[in-house]
Amino acid sequence: MELVYSFADEYLESIATQKAYIDRPDRGSGLLDSPIDENGIGLEPTLDLIRDHVISVGLNPTSGRFLGYIPGGGLFYSALGDFLAAVTNRYAGVFFASPGAVRMESLLIRWMSNLIAYPESAAGYLASGGSVANQSAIVTARDHCGIEGVEITRSVVYMTAHVHHCIEKALRMSGLRTCIIRRIPVDDRYRMNVSALDDAVREDRASGLRPWLVVSSAGTTNTGSVDPLNEIADVAEREGLWNHVDAAYGGFFILCPEAREILEGMGRSDSIVMDPHKTMFLPYGTGALLVKDGRRLLASAHVGADYMQDTLQDTAELSPSDLSPELTKHFRSLRMWLPLKVLGLAPFRAALSEKIQLARYFHDRIAKIDGFEVGPEPDLSVVTFRYVPKSGDADEFNQRLVREIHKDGRVFMSTTLVDGRFTIRMAAVCFRTHKSDIDTAIEVVQEMVERIKE
Ligand SMILES: *Cc1c(COP(=O)(O)O)cnc(C)c1O
Repeated sequence: MELVYSFADEYLESIATQKAYIDRPDRGSGLLDSPIDENGIGLEPTLDLIRDHVISVGLNPTSGRFLGYIPGGGLFYSALGDFLAAVTNRYAGVFFASPGAVRMESLLIRWMSNLIAYPESAAGYLASGGSVANQSAIVTARDHCGIEGVEITRSVVYMTAHVHHCIEKALRMSGLRTCIIRRIPVDDRYRMNVSALDDAVREDRASGLRPWLVVSSAGTTNTGSVDPLNEIADVAEREGLWNHVDAAYGGFFILCPEAREILEGMGRSDSIVMDPHKTMFLPYGTGALLVKDGRRLLASAHVGADYMQDTLQDTAELSPSDLSPELTKHFRSLRMWLPLKVLGLAPFRAALSEKIQLARYFHDRIAKIDGFEVGPEPDLSVVTFRYVPKSGDADEFNQRLVREIHKDGRVFMSTTLVDGRFTIRMAAVCFRTHKSDIDTAIEVVQEMVERIKE
């Protein structure tokens, strides 16, 4: 225990000076030189293996200078919650087995429901992440709308090209590979064009197809844009579509005043996904699904079994196992509940507000530097940008630029294609990201541009 504690302590102390990305040629292959064996090697050499071959290579998502994909950070209080969850090993899937663990999860689900103004009748569960939670939403929508058999090939789903790819994966994994996907065009800020959605739904209905689901994004991973949620809800209500909002990245920004207006309308959805391992800064492994009419989730997910009859007697709270694909599950709620209880909400609100300010700051500064082209003002905390060289191919230049940034490693940013153009993206999410980190990012980008030009 002492050894693990000092290992963790040393790690935490070193985060501020660690690189955000370490590209080591061996890519941790030394781990394979120590196979699982009849005899153990003891704790200290085991910790050395973790230090030398696991955490010293690849991305470092705990760093405040990790600005790629959607960061999170990994709250230390969550780690303590995880430790206690594992030590006590409560059975969190079934109310009868651990009323306390299930109440803790239900309490968090109700807290999130309140945040987005879902009614008391809402239900949901803590999943391992946004992908799994989104799949549960799709399955619930599918079952509620009766999309099965011959209906599938004439059923139509509406989303923009910027929706997270896990939605398409979820459709496939839910047996809906052959349904029709309509990619609705976006405006100049990469938000769904709602009149195009309206037209597409009408045309499809007129030609005998079956529109049933619209998926919008409350913060796309690609550009951070928030679709016009209220207008989409108008169309969904009028046309009788299931309205699913993927707020895996952006949902928790509802905690801060800067984002309240743009996120308005989230609560008008039928289902929503939020990822506490992103914008609540939890360690990886926590997503959340909320379904407004909880009975629909239960109807889709619940299956009984003879050996589970003891579990049915006590129904003060719905059991996660009746709402989700999992039976036995990680006592996941403790890693989310503990930091919220210990710290309160205020520091979460402040950290998220800070991220919005930092993204605006980064956007304004990059826009002013000669040669750079920036994407739209950030809706939340993602900024897209690229360098446009006076001569030569811009895509090639930016690919090179990103390679140099990665080789340097002080900051990490990931890339995407926007309108087919190679683009770099800066996502400020981690609670450890502050103004000095953003300044470092700008410094590194400028330095690397100069290096390439030389
Ligand atoms: C991250 C993300 C997902 C996928 O969630 P995971 O937790 O990585 O499985 C889905 N949608 C959006 C908008 C995301 O940002």
